[in-house]
Amino acid sequence: MERAGEEKFEAGSVAVKSFPLPLEEPHVWVCILTARCNMACTYCIQKGMVLPGVPRRPWKRYDEMPGKEWVRALNDLPARPEHPLILTGGEPTLHRDFLEIAAGLEGYRLDLTSNLAFDIAAAARTMEKAGKRFYSSFHTYSPEHMSPEEFIDRAQLLLETGMVEHPVFSFVDLEYFPQFRTDETNALLSRMLHAALDKGIPIRRNEFRANHLGSPFSRESKKTMECSSAWVNIAPDGEIYNCQFHLTQARHSFGNIKRIGEVRPLPPLGVFFTCHDFGWCDPCHENSGAGMFRDPATGKIFRRDPEASFMAYTRWLTPEELAGAGRRFVKEGKALEGAAFLSAAWEKTRDPALLNDLGVALWNAGREKDAYECLALSLQQGNPDPVCKKNFLALARETGRRAEARLLLEALPAGAAR
Ligand code: SF4
Ligand code: SF4
Repeated sequence: MERAGEEKFEAGSVAVKSFPLPLEEPHVWVCILTARCNMACTYCIQKGMVLPGVPRRPWKRYDEMPGKEWVRALNDLPARPEHPLILTGGEPTLHRDFLEIAAGLEGYRLDLTSNLAFDIAAAARTMEKAGKRFYSSFHTYSPEHMSPEEFIDRAQLLLETGMVEHPVFSFVDLEYFPQFRTDETNALLSRMLHAALDKGIPIRRNEFRANHLGSPFSRESKKTMECSSAWVNIAPDGEIYNCQFHLTQARHSFGNIKRIGEVRPLPPLGVFFTCHDFGWCDPCHENSGAGMFRDPATGKIFRRDPEASFMAYTRWLTPEELAGAGRRFVKEGKALEGAAFLSAAWEKTRDPALLNDLGVALWNAGREKDAYECLALSLQQGNPDPVCKKNFLALARETGRRAEARLLLEALPAGAAR
């Protein structure tokens, strides 16, 4: 394979002194054929704040390059990346010339990212006619937009066509993000996993990358940082960016894929460059695991935190969302995590009824002393619900504090749950 360097590259109509796009793995070339998507998943990270109800972020408006121009520009390049070239979006199959692009590219190991809501049989026929296959593909199940059976049938069809050498089917692991789940989506996911098992289709957990270095992806402030980008992002209009955030904002383009001779060289792998937008990084990009940052003040190099807190977004969630997520955690046997969410809900509302839920969560988590305090406080603050009193007495019995509990109940004001 030809390598980047100082030699003169010549192929097709391209003649450039130094090839501007890095080739070595893990520099990943990504063609975002369209920013559009035919789904609107609540957990989509292509939005400003990864919160339930916040719609997918509308990126800058791009003129979508016709298929012929994609094919001509990419086939004219004198070199190919070591890593597969990813066709993605939004949903790349929405590009009106998607098949023309996929079947027309020469010499690339193609990877496809898609939600599978496209005509697989037609795509397979076109690829076969062109004597082409995708090297790999990545398909994530969206319980909000497709039935489990349809997803598995589509996965099976994709496998049967042989259109992709290494397809991966997955789901977004929202285990620790209950605010994005409902009983219904939980049940659909479980049905999908069973259907996959029945048909022998392996399904992978897909990490939910919705935080910024372990903190909320809040875009509250920017600071200057040294960044090492590992991506070549080509926007729907052919402009090239070093990171997804800059692509979505159409800022700091290195040039256009159609005029490769004029493209400024993207930073080589591992080389730091200064960026003033740190803090607004797109979570998809910066959480890929390949990028790293260096603090110009201290020289300290750091990367993403794969163990980012599940509490990252609690500050922005409504009390109802927090309480709902907390109760879901408790129901699923994660009492401590549930207590953390319920506590955050109570902090926002000071609603004594939430203290009952919090007390029960703490009790389930084996924290009887804290649970007792919560239930007592709930009653003292006027929770009239007899269930709270029942819980309180049961816990008092279990922990040998019956007499003390009786005294507390007697001291409650009239109208409270005495
Ligand atoms: S299918 Fe993917 S890109 Fe489209 S809304 Fe869902 S998560 Fe976002
Ligand atoms: S926005 Fe973030 S990921 Fe993009 S170049 Fe700047 S620091 Fe790097």
